[in-house]
Order: sequence, then C-alpha cells, then structure tokens
Amino acid sequence: MTKKILSLLLVLYSMNAFAQKPEDTEDWSRKPVIVTPGEGTLPPSDAVILYRLPSDAENWMHINGGPIKWKAADELTVVGQTGNIRTKQEFGDVQLHIEWRSPSEIRGEGQGRGNSGVFLMGLYEVQVLDSYDNETYYNGQAGSIYKQQIPLVNACRPPGQWQTYDIIFKAPRFHDDGSLLSPAFITVIHNGVLIQNHVELKGGTRYIGAPEYVKHNEKLPLILQDHGDAVSFRNIWIREL
Ligand code: MG
Repeated sequence: MTKKILSLLLVLYSMNAFAQKPEDTEDWSRKPVIVTPGEGTLPPSDAVILYRLPSDAENWMHINGGPIKWKAADELTVVGQTGNIRTKQEFGDVQLHIEWRSPSEIRGEGQGRGNSGVFLMGLYEVQVLDSYDNETYYNGQAGSIYKQQIPLVNACRPPGQWQTYDIIFKAPRFHDDGSLLSPAFITVIHNGVLIQNHVELKGGTRYIGAPEYVKHNEKLPLILQDHGDAVSFRNIWIREL
C-alpha cells in the first residue's frame, strides 16, 4: 500500500516538473533601449556631451553663475583662483566619463600638485591629484573619495599624460523629514583599473570634520574644482541612469 502511494507521489511530482516550461522564467516586461557604443573613447549615442569642443563651454557656468573663467580650448583648463565651475544641467544617478591631465611641469607636493576634483552632485568629490610618485594622506590621493575612502590601488599615470575616470554614481535618497533613506554609492575605474568598488558614501565630502548627509534635491550639477593648479579636462560625457 505504502509502495503504491509512493509511486503515485512520484508520478505526480514528475508531472509537475514537466508542467514547468522554459518560457515560465522568460522576462519580456522591458525591452532595453538600443544604444550605439562609441568608437574608442567617443561617447555612446545616448550620452549628454559636457565637453568635447571649445563651444561646449556653454554647458558650464561659474559656480556663482555667469560665464566660466577657465581656458576653453580643445581641453578645458583650470585658471587658478577664478573659481569652481558647474554644469548648467543637473543630474542624479549617472555614468560619467571624464579625462584629466595634471600639468607636465611638476610644481608643489602633496595636495599642492595637480589638485582638482570631480564633485558628483557638487557634494561628493572624487579627488583629482598628481599622485604619481607624490605622497599625501591616502584618502586624499587621486581616485580617493576625498577623506572617506582610500582607492584600492594607485593607477596614476605620470604628470602631463591624459588619464580617465569612469564613474558610476547612485545618488542618495532622503525621507521628507530630511533623514537618510538610502546612501550614495560610487564605483570608480581609473585608466581602466577598478579603484572604488561600489563604495557606500558616508555623506558629503569635507575638508574639515566628519562627512554627513544633508537632504538635497534629487538632481544637482556636476562641479569641477579650481584648486589653483592648471589641471586640464577633455572628453567629458555623462549618461543619466
Ligand atoms: Mg581636490
């Protein structure tokens, strides 16, 4: 009797197994949009171009409004003491490609050599610094999340050479009462080398004091830093995610 029940159960089980079809686990709910990848370092078809030509200076403004005072040629170069610049457009979750070059003439040391910065949402800095044979506090060297996260490795090229950052950034979310709903996350690839792997940010990056989240808009401009050094940028493009 028990044997009969067992074999019946076995038959029922195998029937159920056969009842499941490959199609049951296929997902047709969202067709991915077609994007044409760029050749070499050219931007993909859906990217927002922030700087490729001198005329792209129009995409930027001085941090206080008004035109930028940096040198806008084939590349965009910091003119020291003129102030940070920001994009006119505002962004939240993004993929950002940016190329930078510290001056070939080595001047200064530590934080004073080829210093600039890429501020996601104007608040979260990925440090730009000539960190080729130039020691400083490790959470302040090139590719660090400034004073929050040391890069996994130092992938810096020598001064005067072009370097790339490919950054994937997830913006933080806030409750209506201003408290944090979910933190920001960042991944940074420097010259093709992973240096920040889905790092959870502790808040806005600060020169003095601990990082802290302060509720802000869902989208904010990208800011590039004038730290007094003639750092150049080119081929800047961004994709909203
Ligand atoms: Mg900086």
